[in-house]
Amino acid sequence: MQLRSQIPYYKPTGAECDLFETAYDKGLPLLLKGPTGCGKTRFVEHMAAHMGKKLYTVACHDDLSAADLIGRYLLKGGQTQWVDGPLTRAVREGAICYLDEIVEARKDVTVVLHPLTDSRRTLVIDRTSEELTAPSGFMLVASYNPGYQSVLKRLKPSTRQRFLSMSFDFPDPESEIAIVSSESGLEAGRVAPLVRLAGHIRALSGMDLEEGVSTRLLIYTATLMAGGMGVDRAINVAIIEPLTDEPDVQTALRDLVSTIY
Ligand code: ADP
Repeated sequence: MQLRSQIPYYKPTGAECDLFETAYDKGLPLLLKGPTGCGKTRFVEHMAAHMGKKLYTVACHDDLSAADLIGRYLLKGGQTQWVDGPLTRAVREGAICYLDEIVEARKDVTVVLHPLTDSRRTLVIDRTSEELTAPSGFMLVASYNPGYQSVLKRLKPSTRQRFLSMSFDFPDPESEIAIVSSESGLEAGRVAPLVRLAGHIRALSGMDLEEGVSTRLLIYTATLMAGGMGVDRAINVAIIEPLTDEPDVQTALRDLVSTIY
């Protein structure tokens, strides 16, 4: 077990910690759904540290292939040598593997995950003719953002139905004030109006904004303010500009800011 100070700070917003531990105990894979920057990655980092488990995190992207996860032969000093990828290492070591934004990965990744996420719990490595059975300490966690799903990038039901699933959303205002204040060092009294502003922006869905402002952006804003930047400038560079390129929408957001500040 690690020292408490080494455990990344995470403020639970429901029964997610219990569910994570239950999934781990039962050897079941877990899927976390929710908008970007709402705490999914931090949750997994916190749980892994809390449980004293090694964590392999892979940020999936549209070029990520099965070989990136499993491993490949690499040329080393004139010789080819097999090098395990993060998923193989996690299986061999009985660690936690977290695939962030799994829908982004290439299709061949799901072929690898299927036998690993059902009762077989096996990882097939064609290139080395190995078939690894995952030990009880291995756990697969994946996340995706339902808001970004398109017809081309959807998690197939045959994949979804192999995972326990849990929805994440932005924390309630009181929790979000505590989180942003703790992460940025800005006192809660100055964070509260930012969280109120975030609530208004999130309620604007449909107004040419792909997504509401994330907790991550609020932390950026508060960090700038704690470092001495004026509130208008901080909100501009850490909320308004990251959210939209549209001048009209930016003007509407600035109007919203002026109702609070
Ligand atoms: P996601 O993986 O959902 O995109 P992250 O886990 O990276 O988002 O969250 C962004 C930041 O927000 C984190 O680095 C952390 O500082 C903060 N955060 C969000 N939710 C929480 C929470 N419940 N407890 C502690 N920090 C949080």
